[in-house]
Amino acid sequence: MANDCIFCKIVAREIPSNFLYEDDYFIVIKDINPHAPIHLLIIPKIHIRSINDLKEQDKELVGNMFLVAKKMAKEQGVNESGYKVGFNVEKGGGQEIFHLHLHLLGGWKK
Ligand code: 5GP
Ligand code: ZN
Repeated sequence: MANDCIFCKIVAREIPSNFLYEDDYFIVIKDINPHAPIHLLIIPKIHIRSINDLKEQDKELVGNMFLVAKKMAKEQGVNESGYKVGFNVEKGGGQEIFHLHLHLLGGWKK
């Protein structure tokens, strides 16, 4: 756990938050400031700063993040209507929380 990392604190339940999904490696929460009708964050439990810090050993974790996204999209009923997934990387890429997370956005009106 990294000091003063809000997502580490959410993972550790030091900050109360509703987990839409949890397994040994990830949690999923709703974004506090949604940019779409459905805006979820898939967050690994381990602290990795950003895509830039990924190591060879993280390959499986990152692959599994997308499988969690796929599962959540189905659960939220946007798998067929469509959705976006993406990472913001470092300040210039719009990253504000420096603990890796995958955005899932969807639910726009057709
Ligand atoms: P980033 O810009 O780092 O890719 O995305 C961080 C996201 O986390 C933002 O969309 C922001 O709204 C969300 N966020 C920041 N603090 C909190 C929080 O305490 N709880 C939740 N659920 N989302 C947060
Ligand atoms: Zn963290």
